[in-house]
Amino acid sequence: MHLKEKRIFITGATRGIGKAIALKLAEAGGHIAFTYCASDLKAVQVTEAALRAFGVKVQSIHVDASDFKATHKAIEDTIETFGGLDVLINNAGITRDNLLLRMSEADWDAVLNINLKSVFNTVKASIKTFLKQRSGSIINIASIVGISGHAGQTNYAASKAGMIGFTKSIALELGSRNIRANVIAPGFITTAMTDQMEPSIQQAWIQNIPLKRPGLPEDVANCALFLASDASNYITGKVIQVDGGLLT
Ligand code: NAP
Repeated sequence: MHLKEKRIFITGATRGIGKAIALKLAEAGGHIAFTYCASDLKAVQVTEAALRAFGVKVQSIHVDASDFKATHKAIEDTIETFGGLDVLINNAGITRDNLLLRMSEADWDAVLNINLKSVFNTVKASIKTFLKQRSGSIINIASIVGISGHAGQTNYAASKAGMIGFTKSIALELGSRNIRANVIAPGFITTAMTDQMEPSIQQAWIQNIPLKRPGLPEDVANCALFLASDASNYITGKVIQVDGGLLT
């Protein structure tokens, strides 16, 4: 599953799942443009150096993925620098968990804007290039919570369910032009996002996983490599769970 010369744009790749995906795809030969938002310069430089070690082209862009105009410019710059775009990966995401009774409008808006509106932003900005090329693979990182729902995460679950509906719709709109769109729905993956949880809650999640371990960012990256590569050429409009069997 090589990606030699494929041009890839990924949101949020200085840590966690996004970083693991960027490294895996660079290792396979893909050129990587990645975004960061709150990350410090050191984290950006470390990521750039790790990616360049694979001998691929690397571009880092500071952008808030919920900002329509800024995201559009980031994608345009990438297309200009790389001479096109083959793979778009929407990974940036946040949680602002609370029971609905206590959830603020600000927490609702932040999660919907960063997790879901960002996907509209990047896909809108990429679509003309994909159409001209008559190829493209869009990979959206949702969550099993977008399928099952989860108490205390109405905003997050709604954003991830929205990503699934969006992805299935663009798969239908763009399939005739050989543009594919798929979702990866991770379960419980060890990153800063899950580290924020109480240890007892983490243990409760892990107990329920048939494979009896939390997922690693690399587990998600392996699936992204497949969807980015030509090995998945006949797969579109699908939700692939990377969850150790957690949601059956
Ligand atoms: P993480 O370690 O908290 O990383 C989140 C990433 O999102 C960071 O790279 C961050 O970049 C970026 N980001 C946040 N706000 C942004 C904004 N406004 N604009 C652009 N980028 C922004 O989380 P993770 O666990 O790796 O999660 C990655 C994705 O997987 C998310 O979409 C998450 O919902 C999904 N997911 C995770 C799990 C899990 O168990 N970990 C399970 C299911 C789904 P900066 O640091 O530069 O701001």
